Amino acid sequence: MLINLTILGGDGIGPEVTEQAVLVLQAAADTFGHQIQLQRKPIGGAALSAANDPLPGDTLQACLSSGAVLLGAVGNPAFDHNPGHLRPEAGLLRLRRELGAYANLRPAVFFPALEDCSPLRPDVVRGTDIMIVRELLGGAYFGQPRSIEGAPGARVAVNTMRYGEAEIERIARVAFDLAMKRRRKVSSVDKANVLECSRLWREVVTRIGKDYPGVKLGHQYVDSAAMLLVQRPTDFDVVLTENMFGDILSDQAGGVVGSLGLLASASIGGPVGLYEPVHGSAPDIAGKGIANPLGAILSAAMLLRHSFHLEAEAACVESAVSGVLAQGARTADLAGKAHTAISTEEMGRRVVEAVRASAGTGRDRTERTA
Ligand code: NAD
Repeated sequence: MLINLTILGGDGIGPEVTEQAVLVLQAAADTFGHQIQLQRKPIGGAALSAANDPLPGDTLQACLSSGAVLLGAVGNPAFDHNPGHLRPEAGLLRLRRELGAYANLRPAVFFPALEDCSPLRPDVVRGTDIMIVRELLGGAYFGQPRSIEGAPGARVAVNTMRYGEAEIERIARVAFDLAMKRRRKVSSVDKANVLECSRLWREVVTRIGKDYPGVKLGHQYVDSAAMLLVQRPTDFDVVLTENMFGDILSDQAGGVVGSLGLLASASIGGPVGLYEPVHGSAPDIAGKGIANPLGAILSAAMLLRHSFHLEAEAACVESAVSGVLAQGARTADLAGKAHTAISTEEMGRRVVEAVRASAGTGRDRTERTA
């Protein structure tokens, strides 16, 4: 297969971690007999420096014409005082919108080798494997009207939470389809005791759930879901929720399993998927060669799975990551006192090696699933 990608390194540690993810993708492609074609384009602060636009037309065109986009991170303190539309983050928000990426998938998976990285007791967190499905283009983050009006001292701020049935239906189907390939459980999170949006959400999700009789559907209020996520994280399989609740709960679920540097994400639903680690550009460690590339590498695994339907290849990358962690490889964010930290490049090299080492078994798997 031809894997046709646009790579947006972005700012800070973005290019450093993305480079390692590209090397891993190349190793997976070699191992399974695929061809990778990629173009690199600027976004965020890098694009502002080059073209005074955080999402130049050329970058957007490249993204729209490729099979998937892999992004590092955007954000550079040098642009913090720019007007909103000339900030690095404006480029990423526009890209998500242009790609029509309405479904944000954020897995929170516990790695047995990293038991000591979770703030929770090992017996509580062991076995956690959650997929948060967050609606990404609706709700209070996009609803109109929105404003701050009035004289200083008496100003009033307004945001509008708004959802249409079609928006709820399409994200619900993403969650149920994913659950069918997992443990067949969907927890839909809302605040239906207070919000009209949530009452409609619950009604539509229940209706769509009838099309998936094999999936167990439960509804939870967001406050109780937040509590259960730390009390019994292993109870969750797929969590389906609206934009703002998903923003908060997915960070919480990430915190439950350990370091920010490990968390991956996919934004799908439109014609081209966008894959990026959850972390930002980390200006405090940029250029030092110490960033954890595993969030970017695991995002690349999601890219293989969701945009190219290469399940065996994605699983190979994920088990390579799990394997190197089990062998004690740790970047500075994970090392603690018990391990010697390795560099971004060295972590990437070890994952590449583990992917290549699986060559024989990888090809066997492809043949079996072909
Ligand atoms: P951040 O995620 O960049 O960093 C938070 C902390 O985590 C820092 O101490 C950083 O060193 C550490 N960290 C993050 N990723 C790491 C990794 N891979 N390995 C090791 N340590 C890692 O968040 P922030 O400091 O709040 O934001 C910095 C910039 O990033 C801001 O400009 C912000 O707007 C931007 N940002 C961008 C995205 C994105 O591109 N999707 C997301 C969040 C923040």
